[in-house]
Amino acid sequence: MQNKKIKVLFAAFEASPFIKTGGLGDVAGSLPIYLKKDGVDIRVIMPLFSSISNEYRDKMTKICDFYVPLAWRNMYCGIYKLIYKNTIFYFLDNEYYFKRDKAYGFFDDGERIAFYSKAIIESILHLNFSPNIMHLNDWHTALSAVFLREMYREVDKCNNIKTVFTIHNIKFQGMFSKYVLDDITGLKGNFAAESQLMQSGAINYMRGALNYADRITTVSPTYAKEICTPFFSEGLEDVLCRRKNILSGILNGIDYEKYNPYKDNEVYVNLKPITKNITKEKDINEITKEELIEDKIKRITTFKSNNKMCLQADLGLDVDPNICMISLISRLTDQKGLDLITYILEEMLQYKIQFVILGLGDKKYEDAFNKFANQYKNKVSANIFFDESLSKKIYASSDLIMVPSLFEPCGLSQMIAMRYATLPIVREIGGLKDSVNSYNKYTNIGNGFSFVNYNAHELLFTIQNALSLYYDKKEIFNNLSMQAFDTNFNFEESAKEYIKLYSQLMEV
Ligand code: ADP
Repeated sequence: MQNKKIKVLFAAFEASPFIKTGGLGDVAGSLPIYLKKDGVDIRVIMPLFSSISNEYRDKMTKICDFYVPLAWRNMYCGIYKLIYKNTIFYFLDNEYYFKRDKAYGFFDDGERIAFYSKAIIESILHLNFSPNIMHLNDWHTALSAVFLREMYREVDKCNNIKTVFTIHNIKFQGMFSKYVLDDITGLKGNFAAESQLMQSGAINYMRGALNYADRITTVSPTYAKEICTPFFSEGLEDVLCRRKNILSGILNGIDYEKYNPYKDNEVYVNLKPITKNITKEKDINEITKEELIEDKIKRITTFKSNNKMCLQADLGLDVDPNICMISLISRLTDQKGLDLITYILEEMLQYKIQFVILGLGDKKYEDAFNKFANQYKNKVSANIFFDESLSKKIYASSDLIMVPSLFEPCGLSQMIAMRYATLPIVREIGGLKDSVNSYNKYTNIGNGFSFVNYNAHELLFTIQNALSLYYDKKEIFNNLSMQAFDTNFNFEESAKEYIKLYSQLMEV
């Protein structure tokens, strides 16, 4: 009953399946749908990028249009609506800002994003929807928190709205020349806003949201602690420490319908449900726990071997289900610990393994992985592009996946991997620490492998440890794969935490 009163406008610059460049897209495309199922009246608001496919565009209906004041400009904004999985998505249309071949990385990002942040609030004035909470995600939406308080305080529809700001990655803050304050935000002369936005002589959008939001969240409990320290905070520890009492970490989940090994039609072979013979011969209550485990492990190993052989053939690798396949599915940036991987790769490739990379990013890593793929043709496959369908095939086929990040707010790839019974090898940091329970050789309990220090040889030893189980103690390895598969990362759990937070906020 209580949830019915919660009305949330959820703002994100990207949301899957419309547009996705990383984890934010996954979260914004699934968390609201889970919240809606739980009774929250939540609506997502995002840009109408020209890259959004006609499959969705054709189903959108135009609601209205208006002009958004942005300092001396008045910019057109149309709102289109689409109901996706029973949840309303609003798309903000402005071809000048959003008719581009990608979402980010333009000389005028400061202006495009300020426009988006202002248009979010202007939309509230034109929509037949009065949110009591605005849930803002990452720096692209940060200025909304500032505009709301500084420019719309007196507006009836806005003056009771509470703001939640979620940090998905503190590395990206939106820092621009101080001239943006006057020329784009129109906040020059507003000394309160100026002092909350300025940092080292520049304007920092995220700092603004951290100062103005009613609640700050981030995507794992460990990262919430880490970002209050200088190494992880990227220069924002002062404001985060000051506002520690309103900061919390809620671990992300994944969409269990989108990533579903039983039904996924993008993998080569699906995971079989419980073996019929077991249920046929005996009443389900008579089946022993051991029989169920044995059956599950058998189904998982068959699922993985069959997928692996198809992928090996497709990628031109030696086709052999008994070779351990290690993968990397990631943005190719320093954050992801790729210098550790490139440092030990030559040594790693001396073992009986295959290494499959799917990623896009910094040229130095793209070149390095391409070089190894040329040198070790039957062992390494470097796929330097973005392809969700291939990513699922790799998750389903691999035995191990590497996520040795320098820092990791939450990380979804290790969770998706586990959903497909692939064991992650991670560094004990941020959300990786909160989601991976490292193999314990005394109890044989674990859903992955981990190491502590940012050190290439610690990573290599961890890989060696995993490989020795794979080749010499296969039973234990298979049992760990099952434990990974059994770990629950369904977004339902995180959604409950957000509802608790929204409810508390509405009582304030
Ligand atoms: P981040 O948000 O820092 O990029 P996450 O682990 O939180 O990292 O999320 C990454 C998401 O992007 C996962 O869904 C992963 O499968 C996906 N991904 C990363 N690179 C690629 C790629 N080249 N092709 C397809 N999917 C990718």
